[in-house]
Parts: sequence; C-alpha cells; structure tokens
Amino acid sequence: MKLHMQVFIALGLGIKRNWHIFLGLILGIILGIFLNAKKGYFELTNPLVYSGVIATLNFVGQAFIRLIQMVVIPLIFSAIVIGITSIGDSKQLSKLGIRMLLYYGIITVLAVIVGTFLSLLVKPGIGVQSLISAQSASDIQGFVNSALEAQSGNLSNIFLNLIPQNPIAAFAQADMIPIIIFIVIFSIALSKVGEINRPVISFFESIFASTMKVTDWIMYLAAPGVFALTASAIASYGITIFDSIAKLAIVLLVGFGIQFFIIYPLLMKVFSKVPVMLYYSAIAEAMMVAFGTASSSATLPLTIACCEKRGISNKVASFVLPLGATLNMDGSALFQVVCVFFLMQAYGVALEPVQIILIAALAIVSSSTCAGIPGAGLITIALILNGLGLTPNQLVEGFAFLFAFERIFDMFRTLNNVTSDAIIAGIIADNENEFNYDLLLNAKDDSEDDEF
Ligand code: ASP
Repeated sequence: MKLHMQVFIALGLGIKRNWHIFLGLILGIILGIFLNAKKGYFELTNPLVYSGVIATLNFVGQAFIRLIQMVVIPLIFSAIVIGITSIGDSKQLSKLGIRMLLYYGIITVLAVIVGTFLSLLVKPGIGVQSLISAQSASDIQGFVNSALEAQSGNLSNIFLNLIPQNPIAAFAQADMIPIIIFIVIFSIALSKVGEINRPVISFFESIFASTMKVTDWIMYLAAPGVFALTASAIASYGITIFDSIAKLAIVLLVGFGIQFFIIYPLLMKVFSKVPVMLYYSAIAEAMMVAFGTASSSATLPLTIACCEKRGISNKVASFVLPLGATLNMDGSALFQVVCVFFLMQAYGVALEPVQIILIAALAIVSSSTCAGIPGAGLITIALILNGLGLTPNQLVEGFAFLFAFERIFDMFRTLNNVTSDAIIAGIIADNENEFNYDLLLNAKDDSEDDEF
C-alpha cells in the first residue's frame, strides 16, 4: 500500500482512539468560522455576548496551554537528566547525539529544499505587492522593532546568547535552548561522578514520574482545550484571508503535506523497520494537541507520553524529544523559506542563485534557534529578511502581511515540527534497539491505562 495511504489510515485509527480530541478540533473549526463570519453582525446586535464568548474561549484555551506549560520545565529537566545518565557511557552518548543531530539536520534540509522548490516553481509572490502595501503596518512597527532587536548583532552573538550566564534566569524566562544546554552539560557531569549521583538521579526519576502523572490528568482537558484554542484562533484570523493569498496558502499547505505524507513516512521506512502506519496512529494524540496549541514545547509532555506508551525507551524519548522540541523545527523552516521567497517576489527583488542558497541556509539556522512557542517562527524570519536588502518600510509591511494569517499556518507547522520529532525518536529507538515493538503492535486503548 502507498505510504501516504497508510498514513491516512493510521490517522483514522489514531483519531478513533482519540475521537474526543478530534471532535473538539472539528467543532472548534466550525465555531471559529461561524464566529468570524458573523463577527460584524454580532458586534452590532449583541456585542457583549460576542465578546463574552470570545473571552471564554480564550480563557479555556489559555488555561489548557498554561497547565501543560506548567510541567514543561520540570519535565525537560528530569527527562534529560534520566536520559543522559542512563546512557552513561560517553561513547554511546556521543553516538546517539550525533545520530540525532544528523537526522534532525536531514529532515530540516529536506524541508528547506521542498520550500525553495515550490516557491520557485509556483512563484506565490508575483503580482501581490499591492496587497501587501494595503496592509496597515503601523500596529506592527513595535513588534518588528522588538523582533529585530532580539535578532540584532551577528550570528556569533546569537550563538553566544545560547550559553546561559545564569541558568536560574534562563529557567525563570523559560529560555529553552540555554536551559537545555545547561541541563545537558550538568547531566553529562552527573554521569561522571560515580555512585554519589544516585540520590540526585532518584530525585529526578520521581520528578519525571510525577510530572507524567500530571500530564495524564491535564489530558482530560485536551478536548475542550483544543476546541477552545482552535475556535478562538479561527474566530480572530478567519479563513477568508486565504482568498487573498491563495497561492501562498497552497504552496505552504502542499509543502506541509509533502513533509507529512511523503518525507516522514519515507524516512521512517528507509532508516528503520518501525511500521509507519501504527506509529502515526500512536502519536495522533500529540499531533492534535500540537495543532491546537501551536507550541512544540507545550506539546512535549504529551509527545513523550505517546512515544513511551507505544514502546520507545525512556532513554531515547527523554533525550531525543526535548531536544527535538527545541532544535528541530522543520515545519517552521519550510514556512520561513516560503514566506521569504514570497516577499522577495512580491517586491520584485531579483534572486541570484547565491541569494537562494543564502535564504535556504539562513532558514536552517533561524528555524533551529526559534523557540517552540506560538509565533516564534515568524519572529525569527527577521533574521533572514534583515540581511536581504529590503527597505525598513518593506520589512514592516511584509511582516504586517504575514502576521495577519500567521496563526493558522503556525498550527500546521507545529503539527509537522512535533510529528517529525516523534518520527526521529522512533527511528533512533529502532536503530539503537530501544524500541519495544510489543507495545506498539499490541497497543491497547489509552483509557485503560489512565487512572488517578
Ligand atoms: N509554533 C512553532 C512550534 O512551537 C514554532 C513556530 O512558530 O514556527 O513548533
């Protein structure tokens, strides 16, 4: 059977198991479209009820995201400590690390190639300059300024900032890459100090187990959470915006589709013997939450839970997934490349082959420095745009334009970011003999394991 057909069937199976979250997603989309279409009418006739509904949706959605975010830092800390100390041997650790970076690299390079190819083929930006300048850019100026400021300095500064001067400050600001760099160094050291490390490792094992328990509880709220997040995103951004950017939307969706239905299953098939169909079905719950929350970091607890429940060892899941949720943003890389080409084409900037390669290379860097939170992929586009010779005005207008429909595409790119993290974790677990296939093949219903 064709790989993409297997993926379709797998999604069906995964959705069947998590039908309540899927129902939340579909109802959220319907309610969002309805609220967006009737916005003008409600604001005239029933403004209070309308704003009350939007406020309630925001409240429920944000409460859900905040609850999962609440467990992310203790989870990442404990997962990486356990993962690295259980590998112990530094040769095995570096082998695993190199393999992980290699796979994440391959998947991001493929994303950028697909994005570049589609953009140059379809040329979504040709002839849309008037649309862009018609956007109101003034509201967005502050946002652009702070995005540029965050990216200011050269590449070496950006890398320097990834080393935390003060880990506690990095934890307090949930600054993911510096946090991870600190934890990885700390964990490697811990694995080198001998038996004295036992109490600390036991401590983190307890933290890990209890944060996973909290995650299980939070997942009872997944259906209303995903419903509310989807409805409020679509209510405020609408989908009619797609009319004006039809070509861009098509290029992005086709690109995301190629990643999801062709590249991921193909990589899994080529590099491992994991049954693609069962695996997609196993991680469907994480995919739906990724789509709803538009945040890889917030979805991380669930990604780990799905992977471990279906057979990936704790050693691999707890090392590969937290790093993936921070470093591997192949969906975002595709989005960034396409948007940059779109703006260049819209402004009639001629692109030489060297610039094309530069855009692709910058997208790889900027996507991996982007945090796993909503909107981060758009902000880091500043890094690429800044170096390409657009006037400050064009930059602001371009940002304003992309900003208008950003959230909907964020949902799709996060879905891919999370799916590819899980795919790579599956491949590595297989390569390292860390996959308990019994758990995948004989998957029982989740609800059977859930207990308070
Ligand atoms: N929202 C994305 C994620 O969390 C990052 C992005 O904005 O591209 O994976």
